[in-house]
Amino acid sequence: MTIRHLSETIINQIAAGEVIERPASVIKELVENAIDAAATRIEIVTAGGGKTLMRVSDNGCGIPVDELTLAVSRHCTSKLTDDVHDIRALGFRGEALPSIGSVAKLTLKSRPEGADSGFEVSVSGGHMEGPRPTALNRGTIVEVRDLFFATPARLKFMKTERAEALAITEVVKRIAIAFPHIRFSLAGTDRTPLELPATGTGAEATLERIAQILGKDFADNALVLDAEREGVRLSGFAGIPSFNRGNALHQFAYVNGRPVRDKQILGALRGAYADVIARDRHPVAVLFLTLDPALVDVNVHPAKADVRFRDPGLVRGLIVGAIKQALSHSGIRPATSGAE
Ligand code: ADP
Ligand code: MG
Repeated sequence: MTIRHLSETIINQIAAGEVIERPASVIKELVENAIDAAATRIEIVTAGGGKTLMRVSDNGCGIPVDELTLAVSRHCTSKLTDDVHDIRALGFRGEALPSIGSVAKLTLKSRPEGADSGFEVSVSGGHMEGPRPTALNRGTIVEVRDLFFATPARLKFMKTERAEALAITEVVKRIAIAFPHIRFSLAGTDRTPLELPATGTGAEATLERIAQILGKDFADNALVLDAEREGVRLSGFAGIPSFNRGNALHQFAYVNGRPVRDKQILGALRGAYADVIARDRHPVAVLFLTLDPALVDVNVHPAKADVRFRDPGLVRGLIVGAIKQALSHSGIRPATSGAE
């Protein structure tokens, strides 16, 4: 047996296995990149549930032509310096673009402010071409076609166009709640378009954005959360128990502005409503946790969906306590005690 170094393409495909699970994961990575680039307008177009086409355009800072090749190279990022614990941007691993380029056909077009033309590079199944000039306004357009064409085993695991389109919509909504100053649009052959005009910054703008996504009724049927324990702050909105849903899709959690699907947070949410909602129903809530970045590790999972708190008990107690208190202040008590 000989030990050999894996090829760059294989390494990227392995990474893609962790970061890029389905079309919605591509959308998440591309939209996060646009947000990190300080975009105020993000337009998303898809076809075939994202399987045949995904295009994300932004009006952000753009990428200089001499950095385009780096942008699609592994472990190259403009967002992290030497401290993995000081993570402000949504991205930091420098993995998304090379991963996508290794399993799909990716074209990255960009034009930073002040540049007199745009340039593009493309990567298809790990093979790069470019940069070459392209017509473009300021900003970046990333186009991804034929996801997983280069990894047939993965191709089979994608769901129906409809299911993948739904997952994309969920991802966009989830991110959009945390960035109400950004205008989002999502369109495609496979969906009714989603238009989210910018609402501004601050608590009111956030509530307006939430209303765009969850409907005015949520805003009318939600209790305001605002609590703090030992430097961890919780704000947001918790639906009254009767405003429940048949699935947990309407639960949104953010840690320092980063959308997360964290089991501990969602578990705490379930715990808070355990006495007032039937077991097969799910509360609707939007939870924003803010804490010293040193007290939470966001670098647990390649897709950055899970986080690790230095003190999970504190966070759970904060969430359960704040929601229970909000419920009891509004006069909501367990309807039937002990009945399951
Ligand atoms: P990461 O986001 O972890 O840095 P990515 O592979 O997603 O890694 O992106 C690599 C780099 O490409 C980023 O660090 C950034 O400099 C650049 N980049 C990607 N997308 C955009 C965009 N939409 N606008 C500006 N720069 C971008
Ligand atoms: Mg990224």
